[in-house]
Amino acid sequence: MTSPRRARTVVEVSDPYANYLLQVPPSGEGICITCHSSVYDGYERCLPCNRARQKLGPLVFDATAFVSLAPSGQQLARELITYKKEEIPEKYRHPRMAGLAAVLWRWLSVHEAHVAQRAGTPGFSMVTPVPSTRGRPGEHPLKRLVSGIVAGTGDRYVDLLEAHGGDRGREVATDRFTIVRPVAAASVLVIDDTWTSGARAQSAAAALKLAGTSKVGFVGVGRWFNTDFADNAKWLIRRRRTRWNWDRCCLE
Ligand SMILES: [Zn+2]
Ligand SMILES: [Zn+2]
Repeated sequence: MTSPRRARTVVEVSDPYANYLLQVPPSGEGICITCHSSVYDGYERCLPCNRARQKLGPLVFDATAFVSLAPSGQQLARELITYKKEEIPEKYRHPRMAGLAAVLWRWLSVHEAHVAQRAGTPGFSMVTPVPSTRGRPGEHPLKRLVSGIVAGTGDRYVDLLEAHGGDRGREVATDRFTIVRPVAAASVLVIDDTWTSGARAQSAAAALKLAGTSKVGFVGVGRWFNTDFADNAKWLIRRRRTRWNWDRCCLE
């Protein structure tokens, strides 16, 4: 018999998420090679990913992966907003944070090796979050998630990036972030809760590479997309046909 006060395991906490996590499709015909959203047939990358690549060239991420699709207005997209909303009381935010941490923890334990392999490194020596560019008091919840809750990233956690110039929207630029620690020759895994256009994250990758890192990979919890845009609602219906599987990722 188990004690009712027994701490819940990562598997137990993350299991209910299987009801609404959405398998991210591998890149290929109709799927962007970088952000795994839908693209018109014949195109390798979507418009924002193409723009980042044109602007930054080899300074973009060596590998990008996402735990789940996060369609706008739906459960995961809502949780990714709620867990960090300052005006929501801690007692409501905390379970979201624990849940998302468990999801990220469980996913990384299987798939971080695949991200490293795709990036061309045996492993990542440092893990860092994309800092918020909006500026908020206190510790950012993403930092708490990656540095304190998720085992396996906590011991490699380093604050490497500092946002520069406030909220610069979807601007892709090498000077959006300053690197605040030595990173020469390190391989870095950048983590963010949400990927929208990728402008902020790719700008972070560029700053890290200019500072001398070897390989830079990215993992996002939610690959956000707007269900009202173009054919995205239809695309989502097709995506729902694939059952969630903790052992599969978009890099396979
Ligand atoms: Zn893309
Ligand atoms: Zn994988």
